[in-house]
Amino acid sequence: MSLNIAIDGPAGAGKSTIAKLIAKKKNIIYVDTGAMYRAIALYILRKGTDVNDTEAISNDCKGANVTIGYEDGAQIVYLNGENVNAFLRTEEVGLTASKTSAVPAVRAQIFELQQKLAKENDCIMDGRDIGTVVLPWASPKIFLTASSEVRAKRRYDELIAKGESADLEQIKEDIEKRDYQDMHREISPLKQADDATLLDTSNMTIEQVADAVIAMCP
Ligand code: C5P
Repeated sequence: MSLNIAIDGPAGAGKSTIAKLIAKKKNIIYVDTGAMYRAIALYILRKGTDVNDTEAISNDCKGANVTIGYEDGAQIVYLNGENVNAFLRTEEVGLTASKTSAVPAVRAQIFELQQKLAKENDCIMDGRDIGTVVLPWASPKIFLTASSEVRAKRRYDELIAKGESADLEQIKEDIEKRDYQDMHREISPLKQADDATLLDTSNMTIEQVADAVIAMCP
């Protein structure tokens, strides 16, 4: 059976940074499931579907064929054959993904792709419901968190480093809104799996977190 590591947690907890580092250290693939939901959100935004209309999203999402590939170890997300990586990381796409991912038809569309990837590859997969729903067999399972202040500040620093403008208070508000939506939806809400280990990264370095996770691997 493949090595499957699950990392769940709220927005900005450092999941992708940690997962990428561990993937490199363990020579396994990194599966970013948030990017898959973001690709569907991008499709819905481009199509102009009302993001509050569950029925319209259920219908329209069928036109979004999301697949992934790897180039030099980095995950590429294809939306109907187009590499859409460059369009996925905006706040608009993130907030829309948080809405569209609460629609059961959207989750069903991504679910099989995620399980197939994990069954066929040693991987570390991050998201919101990996340990609870997608890969219940994963080991180890990590629930990564940090205070919303720390998460907002990390995101703010990231944007400033890229030369973009940023408003710390607005980022914190968006993060808290997204957390609330992700934790209170009916299907696959964000929560810690019973057998997951909680890691609060507020006062930990990236290396410390990665070492803690690697120490849990079989
Ligand atoms: O992790 P990321 O910020 O890229 O995820 C974007 C959105 O996709 C999240 O806010 C969440 O609503 C959704 N998501 C999800 N389940 C996952 C991964 C992401 O519902 N496994």
